[in-house]
Amino acid sequence: MNYDQIFQSAQEAFLHFKNVSGKDKATFLRRIADGLEAEKHTLIPLASEESNLPEGRITGELGRTAGQIRLFAKLLEEGSWVEAVIDHADPERTPAPKPDLRRFLTPLGPVVVFGASNFPLAFSTAGGDTASALASGCPVIYKAHPAHPETSKLVGQVISKAVIDSNLPLGVFTHVEGGIETGQKLIQHPLAKAVAFTGSFTGGKSLFDLANQRSEPIPVFAEMGSVNPIIAFKEKLGANIESLAKAFVGSLTLGAGQFCTNPGLIMVPSIHAEAFASAVKKELQEIAAAPMLHEGIAEAYYKSLSILESRKELKWVQVAAAKDLIKAYPALAKIKANDWLEDDHFQQEVFGSFALMVVYENFNELFAIAQRLHGQLTITLWGENGELAKKEDLINLLSEKCGRLLFKGAPTGVEVGHAMQHGGPYPSTTDSRFTSVGVHAIKRFVRPIAYQDMPQDLLPDALKEGNPLGIWRTVDGELVK
Ligand code: NAP
Repeated sequence: MNYDQIFQSAQEAFLHFKNVSGKDKATFLRRIADGLEAEKHTLIPLASEESNLPEGRITGELGRTAGQIRLFAKLLEEGSWVEAVIDHADPERTPAPKPDLRRFLTPLGPVVVFGASNFPLAFSTAGGDTASALASGCPVIYKAHPAHPETSKLVGQVISKAVIDSNLPLGVFTHVEGGIETGQKLIQHPLAKAVAFTGSFTGGKSLFDLANQRSEPIPVFAEMGSVNPIIAFKEKLGANIESLAKAFVGSLTLGAGQFCTNPGLIMVPSIHAEAFASAVKKELQEIAAAPMLHEGIAEAYYKSLSILESRKELKWVQVAAAKDLIKAYPALAKIKANDWLEDDHFQQEVFGSFALMVVYENFNELFAIAQRLHGQLTITLWGENGELAKKEDLINLLSEKCGRLLFKGAPTGVEVGHAMQHGGPYPSTTDSRFTSVGVHAIKRFVRPIAYQDMPQDLLPDALKEGNPLGIWRTVDGELVK
């Protein structure tokens, strides 16, 4: 593989693509979304076969993938996302004249994207990372995930066709197949300017370290998953044991537990621990074991369970009914809060349908757990309004530990929209200032640039005096159109 050729072509494409208008980029993105839908009769069975995920789930994922691409298209058509800011000159100012300063967001350059095995469409080749990087004006070099190679290839062809149909340079999108070494070479190439990754902590962290060892370090936006704690309070849980057990098991076993927002940790007050554990066990026994993405993931799931089975602090509410080669049998163990507090290993993600129930005696113990929690994508609170009313300290503390704090329902199901934050403090991601889902994902691949005293003709349209794009801008401190 000629890495120089790949990046030269991406860099040349960048110099053109970064200046393509928002409207034309939107048309390009819509062509990708339309192209994916046009291939649905091939794509859905193929992705289902390669991932072991049911066709119904893949159908939903295709809708989500096309939907999020079109959401970026709308963002580009509206245009204000570039955050244009204009401070007019004041030549009369004393003691020194004030210059004309104009600032907006500009794309970084070629982005290397690593897709996830658990979302063969929505977080893979044409997934949120690729869509947001292309929307920002950055070419994408996509490292295909070996768990769904043919799906990846077909989606890559759809994107490349949209590139051609939009008269864009071919280097706007490159589909690269290969293993770990290929990924490492890609992010080490001097022309790579950023990396987006969804997957394991080990993978994300090692790519982050590698990117920081470059002579020119580049940002790595790695979403590495978390255990997404649920905290149940006494009154709420006591009044809704059956329904909350059902909601919890539904979220825990969805997609065989293979979601980065899967609730792998639940804090339960001791007074209801037995009743809740029995209700969960009853629900778990009604769930059929589902095939995991591939044998390697199933093996990793049962290996993690075996390590936990050797821990005497755990009491098993439900052991995995079998250790299958491919299917995930759900499991639940409980542990006393003071034992959990002793060892950070109990916070490690088990990718699959396993959860640890931490039984707490009182608020102080719960607060100590919250203090100890690692960074999370989500934290969920199940409490009556009255129970939460005087818990500002706890809620403040939990807000520091996650990207999304829920007060209802379960963490799985990540809404794609304007207000979503999918990304929390380390180790759930490598940069909690950004999201990998929703329109703000575009901000990962841009940087601000300010132009001082630039002649009007040379300014980008977003910064020209007459506001030819008709976008929202901050002019002399006021937001105006
Ligand atoms: P992964 O092993 O992290 O792999 C994701 C992608 O990154 C693959 O293309 C992989 O390439 C590449 N990669 C991994 N480590 C690398 C390294 N050190 N250098 C260069 N490239 C590297 O994730 P996965 O295959 O999707 O699933 C494996 C585990 O990841 C699961 O068991 C689960 O724990 C976790 N996971 C988390 C999430 C999440 O949402 N955060 C999603 C899926 C999976 P190769 O495949 O060629 O090695």
